[in-house]
Amino acid sequence: MSNTLSIDGARLWNSLMELGEIGGTEKGGSRRLALTELDHQGRELVCGWMRDAGLTISFDRMGNIFGRRPGRDNSLAPVMTGSHIDTQPSGGKFDGCYGVLAGLEVMRVLKDHAIVTTAPLELAIWTNEEGVRFVPTMMGSGVFSKSIPLDHALAATDANGLTVGDEVKARGFFGDEEPGQHPVGSYYEVHIEQGPVLEANENTIGVVTGVLGQRLMNITVTGQEAHAGPTPMAIRKDALQHSLPLMTEILALGRSHGDSGRATIGQVAVLPGARNTIPGLVKFSVDLRNLDRTVLEEMANKAKMAAAAAQERTGLTFEVDDLQTITPTVFHYANVEMVDAACKSRGYSHQRIVSGAGHDACFISRIAPTSMIFVPCKDGISHNEIEDAAPTDLEAGANVLLDVLLRASA
Ligand SMILES: [Zn+2]
Repeated sequence: MSNTLSIDGARLWNSLMELGEIGGTEKGGSRRLALTELDHQGRELVCGWMRDAGLTISFDRMGNIFGRRPGRDNSLAPVMTGSHIDTQPSGGKFDGCYGVLAGLEVMRVLKDHAIVTTAPLELAIWTNEEGVRFVPTMMGSGVFSKSIPLDHALAATDANGLTVGDEVKARGFFGDEEPGQHPVGSYYEVHIEQGPVLEANENTIGVVTGVLGQRLMNITVTGQEAHAGPTPMAIRKDALQHSLPLMTEILALGRSHGDSGRATIGQVAVLPGARNTIPGLVKFSVDLRNLDRTVLEEMANKAKMAAAAAQERTGLTFEVDDLQTITPTVFHYANVEMVDAACKSRGYSHQRIVSGAGHDACFISRIAPTSMIFVPCKDGISHNEIEDAAPTDLEAGANVLLDVLLRASA
């Protein structure tokens, strides 16, 4: 049945363009920081569209918005889709907005065809995903999934000392519901890829299997400064010379630990930074990523062991500082398979893909079976006013969303 039903790509595109004009920027992007007057205008516009599509709107105390479409059996937990409509300071029209408006487009099509699902459907707009005006990122979905305490989120302040709590109330989006109070049967989020993989492989849809976890460290190598001329190579304690093999070893970890392995050294400080002085100190950042928690741990341990071995070998001091661990998100197998099956039945070129960036779906996956659908964005560019995506790809992603929402709520 679902293949005879398709979303209206032009209507989706027009809604994206209309929302993008609120806070529109010179280069064609949008600036609607979370819970500002412009974000409020965007929310009002989309809530109006949601009501027109037959959805009943409610808010929770975090200002998360839910548009509910009843099913035949409303005792069932709703099948949910959603994303965010707040933007980066110089954001594009598609990041987040596409997920919300593709969900809206699904609701519009179901209304047009008077289709009633068994389980109810819900469209969520999560508050402050971007984390620009208020930290942390993915705040609304984090609170909804009980991963971030509500009082902690409401007390977060912007640069002018205004709190999230004040701003949610001021914009009229402070609801009665305790965040996370209502159950979610399953969750699907469609999003632009924000990277170059789909475009490079000429695939229309990315079937997202999970989101990479991260291990962030700093390594400080201490040798001894000395004159570059009089000190023979064999007896110098050159912090840079002895850092280089370790850096090479750490970067190789990204290649030797599966497709989702990543290793990046993005910052290097060489001190004292004089042309004719042997460096006495090198400090560099290490960013390790993987989809597999155990493998990520293994990468981190190997980096630490390599540093210890370098210390043993060279007699210099190699100090490793563990800064942060972000656990990988692995999406639910059955949900991922359902997205894959929808791509196949539509005949869309597709591939499995992991997300390097965080999304609301990461938090929701902690409380409900979840997966994501990616579509390509032009040149892999996002968080930029020039962010762009092809209308046909956006339409395809929304069709996959339509199919999986129908299947999951059947
Ligand atoms: Zn986003």
